[in-house]
Amino acid sequence: MNYEVNKKGFYGEYGGAFIPEMLYPNVRELQHHYLTILKDNDFQQEFRKLLKDYVGRPTPLYYAKRLSDYYKTQVYLKREDLTHTGAHKINNTIGQIIIARRLGKTRIIAETGAGQHGVATATVCALMGLKCVVYMGKLDVERQAPNVLRMKMLGAEVVPVYSGNMTLKDATNEAIRDWINNPVDTHYIIGSVVGPHPYPDLVTRLQSIISEEIRWQLKEQTGNENPDYIIACVGGGSNAAGAFYHYLDNEDVKLIAVEAGGKGIDSGESAATMVTGRPGILHGCRSMLMQTDDGQIIEPYSLSAGLDYPGIGPIHSYLYKIGRAVFENATDEEALTAAYRLTRLEGIIPALESAHALAFLDKYTFKPEDVVIINLSGRGDKDMATYIKYMEEIKD
Ligand SMILES: *Cc1c(COP(=O)(O)O)cnc(C)c1O
Repeated sequence: MNYEVNKKGFYGEYGGAFIPEMLYPNVRELQHHYLTILKDNDFQQEFRKLLKDYVGRPTPLYYAKRLSDYYKTQVYLKREDLTHTGAHKINNTIGQIIIARRLGKTRIIAETGAGQHGVATATVCALMGLKCVVYMGKLDVERQAPNVLRMKMLGAEVVPVYSGNMTLKDATNEAIRDWINNPVDTHYIIGSVVGPHPYPDLVTRLQSIISEEIRWQLKEQTGNENPDYIIACVGGGSNAAGAFYHYLDNEDVKLIAVEAGGKGIDSGESAATMVTGRPGILHGCRSMLMQTDDGQIIEPYSLSAGLDYPGIGPIHSYLYKIGRAVFENATDEEALTAAYRLTRLEGIIPALESAHALAFLDKYTFKPEDVVIINLSGRGDKDMATYIKYMEEIKD
């Protein structure tokens, strides 16, 4: 089975680069150069060194004993929450900022939902001394206030977006508009495996460090590099793509992606793209998309800002279609419960996004000997206000 994009950026029928003509120069430039740069020795050296000394990689693969006892199976957590800035997003922004510099860009733009990608982008811009503008939906600006302050302290300009339901999709529209107006000096750092080719493939490759490490770490700890399950939450799908990548052609390893079920998939308020969507084009690529019968985008909903997106990366639509990955969902409430469980059993407060992956442990009965890896995509500091608000309701 082939899991790579073809020359035009398609995974089967999904992907591609559906962009306005004004964006051709920027996108073509990236398409032409990204693989050469990624394979270049100097790039790899600089990227790997920064991942090690700046990001803090490799992140631990942690055997969670009390969680394992509770669920009567073997649970390992891939600790992306321990990276610098607190989520996997930094793996991608470090890679893209090196690429941007090589292409001679001096100005960086980004969109952000939970603010994690905005913070990761503002961070690498400070690191490299480049100008940074971050677009963020007004609702997210409010619910992720600590991250807004971090971006500002890092020197980024945060632009609140008032269109649509004022979340991630709307911020992305605004970032694309900016790029069209600034084609020469600006690089757009997309934060997930979405957008026109080559972004889905580029971001997947940069995030694939996650599964690269899982392989040798699990081998070191158990003698076998293959787990039975890898579980990750999916917004656009970058932490999942990175955690799955090196296992894609190993069918013994079951891949489980967990989307945001919001208030329940039948409630009309969710961000569960795979079960409620159908193929369409958003932000430059063809993939599954939440839309009405006449093609209007349905506003997504999730308590977790990082999963609140009506689309999903084309690689995931493809994995779903061919049956290589299973797509599940967890509601707000299930994620909150799982977040509290991890906190009380292991002393780790997860990001609300990552808690959706953890919630799958409550939905499925694993065998005692199963090795189950949960990709803990980020830490929960940014979600404290939300956690405190719901604390009374979900106490066990
Ligand atoms: C952004 C984010 C996500 C969702 O993005 P993906 O591209 O699907 O990984 C998940 N977890 C955390 C902690 C995030 O910051």
